[in-house]
Amino acid sequence: MSTILTFATPTARKDHACGLCRGTITKGEAYIYTTSLENGEFCTFKSHTVCNTLAVKFGADDTDDGGMDDYGFLEEVWVYVRDNPSERDPIFTADEDAYIRELHTKEEKCQD
Ligand SMILES: [Zn+2]
Repeated sequence: MSTILTFATPTARKDHACGLCRGTITKGEAYIYTTSLENGEFCTFKSHTVCNTLAVKFGADDTDDGGMDDYGFLEEVWVYVRDNPSERDPIFTADEDAYIRELHTKEEKCQD
């Protein structure tokens, strides 16, 4: 059972780690900040806006176990990009290829 308490889009005053792709939210960049109660436990979560958009698209918020972990998210990104190459433009930033490569690198790392 998950209850969202706060949903905000602040500008980063320092670098943060994205809870979805594990990348860096760079100082000065707008990001998604949420606080929630997960089974009675207070949680904070930060993510890139593009990652949050993807997570919502993948239905990460609909799962009963409180959402999607970063590994599940990376898998979903790969499947989505493979199956929907024509939909990449509106979703990813102008630097989408670098973004995908970066995700791929991270995915390889987390299989170690
Ligand atoms: Zn991210």
